[in-house]
Amino acid sequence: MSDICHKLHKLANALSRFTFPFDLKALPMNGIYLLFEKNETAHGVDRIVRVGTHNGDDQLRSRLKQHFINENKDRSIFRKNIGRAILNKDKDDFLKQWEIDLTSRDAKKKYADKIDSVKQHNIERKVSEYIRNNFSFVVIPVTSKKERLSLESKLISTISHCDQCKPSDEWLGNYSTKPKIRQSGLWQEQKLYGSHLSEEDYERVIELSRKQLCL
Ligand SMILES: [Zn+2]
Repeated sequence: MSDICHKLHKLANALSRFTFPFDLKALPMNGIYLLFEKNETAHGVDRIVRVGTHNGDDQLRSRLKQHFINENKDRSIFRKNIGRAILNKDKDDFLKQWEIDLTSRDAKKKYADKIDSVKQHNIERKVSEYIRNNFSFVVIPVTSKKERLSLESKLISTISHCDQCKPSDEWLGNYSTKPKIRQSGLWQEQKLYGSHLSEEDYERVIELSRKQLCL
């Protein structure tokens, strides 16, 4: 397991890296993104701390915009999780309000007087700042939705099963309120500990990334 994760990390670290601010147009329309976080290392290189993709076709750019640019935690579980950890680390009671999903009209109406919107905005700002200053990413272009979802899940499982991919003591995720995040060292709760990448899958990942490797 560690062996394939080792190769995956070497490959991921060799791909074209994006940091904020990045040119959305430079990203493919479809693919899987791998996030790295400052000061997190594994296999002698930067550690992959989250793997993600998108459901709808041509939505990769919009997905990354939801994480890095749009300040709305209810449209990005990644933002929500970063906020949870920041608030928990600060022992901030606003965590309870942060948990409320304000997407629906009903919820907006119901909680209109109960949410401190200035504070909410401040935390969204803090989340943006943290994400923009600490995360970078690479993209594996994958056109087919079926293949995107299948590879995403195998990539997540490969890392979650790996005994060499461990968070540092200072990792923000150690303050997560979600046990799966603390235990896996990944900013995600879904698709952990399933089937990992086979050698064949790994070859496919190289093939999909080949264009970037030749640059
Ligand atoms: Zn690993």
